[in-house]
Amino acid sequence: MRLQPDDRLFFPFSFGPYLGFWTAFDAAARRGFFCLPGGGLSSTARLRFLLDHGVTVVLCTPTYALHLAEIARKEGIDLVRSSVRYLIVAGEPGGSIAGTRSSIEANWGARVFDHCGLTEVGPVGIECPENPAGLHILETEYLPEVIDPKTEEHALPGETGELVLTNLGRWGSPLIRYRTGDLVQVGARSCPCGSGWLRLPGGILGRTDDMVHLRGNNFYPSALENVIRRFREIAEYRVEIDQTGALAVLRVEIEPVPAAAHSEIADRVHKMIRDELSFRAEVKEVAPGTLPRFELKARRILVRK
Ligand SMILES: [Zn+2]
Repeated sequence: MRLQPDDRLFFPFSFGPYLGFWTAFDAAARRGFFCLPGGGLSSTARLRFLLDHGVTVVLCTPTYALHLAEIARKEGIDLVRSSVRYLIVAGEPGGSIAGTRSSIEANWGARVFDHCGLTEVGPVGIECPENPAGLHILETEYLPEVIDPKTEEHALPGETGELVLTNLGRWGSPLIRYRTGDLVQVGARSCPCGSGWLRLPGGILGRTDDMVHLRGNNFYPSALENVIRRFREIAEYRVEIDQTGALAVLRVEIEPVPAAAHSEIADRVHKMIRDELSFRAEVKEVAPGTLPRFELKARRILVRK
């Protein structure tokens, strides 16, 4: 997969002070691509804009890709028949979470490419075409390390830890051993694509401060997202982790698409969380249109302490 000179890139953002967006827009424009800004428009207007201009590549957060798909369904727009062939997603872990990724790909009929970066250091990771759902660190720019966040010992291949980056080449603001707060798994340095760059299977797994200790288990919100997103009939969800009592309680609100309302979906989600993640959650269905939607980084996890 490579972008072709005639690809048309669409940036459905509000042009706010969000660095990841600006670097993507600037990089694409400098390389001479047709870049279509989507600021100042409603989601419906963005979809029409996208169709009218024959957009082939969409750059947004995973959450917003799903949100646009939801709006398209309501408007009777079939995105699978659109000219979009790739979505490049960043800002949240979703691009490498199997459930989220396959939901975006099915809704759009297009391939997802994950990407990650941090305002402090710049763009960090890219996904290769041959080995989906993982990120290569751009080792021409970064010296990566993965450490145990508590002991600061180096993590071994297959282990999970905090990504630490050094980018001596960044003009003006190099950082030395910057602790990103991102949780990653140490992967192999060999990949079917031929790259020897460090690979992070599953991409960014979450934030070190997202990890919650729940009844003897370490719980990552991305694991829950992976389960919930496998249900195509769920439009949105919200999680509350209540740690005010002696035992933490996990509550999940799910909002089905209108056609799937009152279909015992809460029971099915409850069972899958229990079977896949080995813990019990209180799952409740809420009415369509109840939960908030997000354009940039979603805030679906609420922790009560
Ligand atoms: Zn690769």
